[in-house]
Amino acid sequence: MRLRNITGSREAIAASRHVVHEELSCRGRWQEIFGNGNPIHIEIGMGKGKFIYTMARLHPENNYVGIEKYSSVLLRAVQKMEEEELPNLKLIRMDAEEIAEVFAPGEVDRIYLNFSDPWPKDRHAKRRLPSRQFLERYDVILNPRGQLEFKTDNRELFDFAVEELEPAGWQAKLITYDLHGDAALMEGNVMTEYEEKFSAMGNPIYKYIIYREK
Ligand code: SAM
Repeated sequence: MRLRNITGSREAIAASRHVVHEELSCRGRWQEIFGNGNPIHIEIGMGKGKFIYTMARLHPENNYVGIEKYSSVLLRAVQKMEEEELPNLKLIRMDAEEIAEVFAPGEVDRIYLNFSDPWPKDRHAKRRLPSRQFLERYDVILNPRGQLEFKTDNRELFDFAVEELEPAGWQAKLITYDLHGDAALMEGNVMTEYEEKFSAMGNPIYKYIIYREK
């Protein structure tokens, strides 16, 4: 995601009621915050928020939390919310490394990772969002029956992500190397911003759905 310093993005985010500012105090209280007992689905690294915003609009039966590290990117999602507010979507600006401090054990019902940054250097492998280090964090916050879905067009990152599953104690329910070529899997598929861009260039889209046996 290209980062430009958008003047005032921090201020606009600080003033937005769609962004959760005291995220550490939300741990274990997310259903109370949404005011219902609906499942909590989160997207980590949501970028400008096209995917999670569309999901929240299509699925009022779930609560959604979009997580993004950079204010300049998060600002776009905030602006979308200013145009049309969705009661079942909240946004957080944070580094996902701290995810287990924001959600209590088992509090999350589904995790989405979409077109995560590849961090191609080996020494940065643990920064990759589908790495075993992150899978350990997800293991804590995800409901024992919960699932994690990951999409990317980056073959190296996808192969890495698949190799991380066994050592981290996760199983694959689905692995596809051509999501867009599978009509059944495409049913209900919501395209992310990057997915639109890279599939239009002819890149195949890879996807897995994973879970743990608990
Ligand atoms: N998910 C969107 C999509 O598919 O269009 C955006 C993909 S973009 C390549 C990856 C996003 O993840 C960037 O906006 C980046 O800032 C965010 N990101 C990367 N590492 C993160 C982390 N540790 N915590 C939160 N966000 C992160």
